[in-house]
Amino acid sequence: MVTAIVGANWGDEGKGKITDMLAMDSDVIVRFQGGANAGHTIINNYGKFALHSLPSGVFYDHTTSVIGNGVALNIPVLFHELSEIVEKGVPRPKVLVSERAQIVMPYHILFDQYEEERLGGKSFGSTKSGIAPFYSDKFAKTGFQVSELFMPEDALYEKIERVIIQKNVLLEHLYHKPLIDPKEIFGTLMEYKKMVEPYVCDVSSYLDRAIHEGKNILLEGQLGTLKDPDHGIYPMVTSSSTLASYGAIGAGIPPYAIEKVVTVVKAYSSAVGAGAFVSEIFGEEANELRVRGGDGGEFGATTGRPRRMGWFDCVASKYGCRLQGTTDVAFTVVDVLGYLKEIPVCTGYEVDGKITTDFPVPWKLEKAKPVLEILPGWECDISGIKTYEDLPRNCRGYIEFIEEKIGYPITMVSNGPGREDIIYRKIK
Ligand code: GDP
Repeated sequence: MVTAIVGANWGDEGKGKITDMLAMDSDVIVRFQGGANAGHTIINNYGKFALHSLPSGVFYDHTTSVIGNGVALNIPVLFHELSEIVEKGVPRPKVLVSERAQIVMPYHILFDQYEEERLGGKSFGSTKSGIAPFYSDKFAKTGFQVSELFMPEDALYEKIERVIIQKNVLLEHLYHKPLIDPKEIFGTLMEYKKMVEPYVCDVSSYLDRAIHEGKNILLEGQLGTLKDPDHGIYPMVTSSSTLASYGAIGAGIPPYAIEKVVTVVKAYSSAVGAGAFVSEIFGEEANELRVRGGDGGEFGATTGRPRRMGWFDCVASKYGCRLQGTTDVAFTVVDVLGYLKEIPVCTGYEVDGKITTDFPVPWKLEKAKPVLEILPGWECDISGIKTYEDLPRNCRGYIEFIEEKIGYPITMVSNGPGREDIIYRKIK
């Protein structure tokens, strides 16, 4: 059974917590896209962790953690994370790295920084982890696969020289920065080879066997639908697909193997980086939600940047769930809203004087104004509650109102950051 865990929104929906929780009954957890640019925050009996590279299942000794071919693999970051969790007392996880994953090169990170510098105020708000230059190279066919570290050294060196010629033209004439020495890159790749060698695996064959043996496999997505390069708020998106369907490609399994899609939807909105954010709020109202949000405030797990805040957006979330192919919604951070007397919810967009519940294309989204409905708050702490019927009436009202608007079943309600803070809900 393969289950994908993905986000409906702009990321930071709490996918890490849901994956960590579902990993308890799983055998394999696979990351299938993205790189070390976003983080998952996980709180469990070992402590609090921000994972950027490793899948969220690394805290169990019965699971195998897999880096799929769709990932932007930053080898030093992966190894730093591995040693960090082992130092904090977590048993050394079983990790497999796809031989077809491509490597984030040191110059990808530099190019990301130089391009943001060049764009100045018009930048994309990149986390400068090299993700856009990495995926550009992958699709321009000038990237390096993990498998290539193991080809004859002269052939690898020749390829490096070929790729670097093009990079150095940009460095000299566009960015006016120091040039790259192919020998240095070759040396770095030889170091990467030593680091990664024990973990390299033909992941798609491994997963094929696991599927046939009836293992439980989780595919862990990064960010959310609205950051997808095709279906999101282009160009303020990430550089690899954030959709469950891409899980099949990024892990190397058949699309029909994915039987369940758990879409994580957050009870309010937050976003990082630039781009249209229709239900955004500002000032004191936003500050209060930011400080109370998530576990210890809504600040980037990788960058520490304050996140942009907003009310729940039914239009974006309905669209986000549809594009994921949602079978189950995990509705998270509901506990955070307990301080509000009234809770505004964005139920529609007004675009050019017309109200719509369909998510518009990016340039029209810029003009959209939120249509808000006000729901009564429950004004109490719901953490610790274990059964749906024990939630305050107004809290259930909020959940059911949103379920009706987005059109997908909310089968899990998360009322705290821990593994055990979950309410399973039977849909009648
Ligand atoms: P991800 O990238 O989707 O995994 O999300 P992040 O880890 O960036 O953000 C989610 C934050 O919310 C983390 O700090 C989690 O510990 C926290 N979190 C997840 N679910 C809940 C919940 O139900 N309640 C509260 N209070 N915090 C939660």
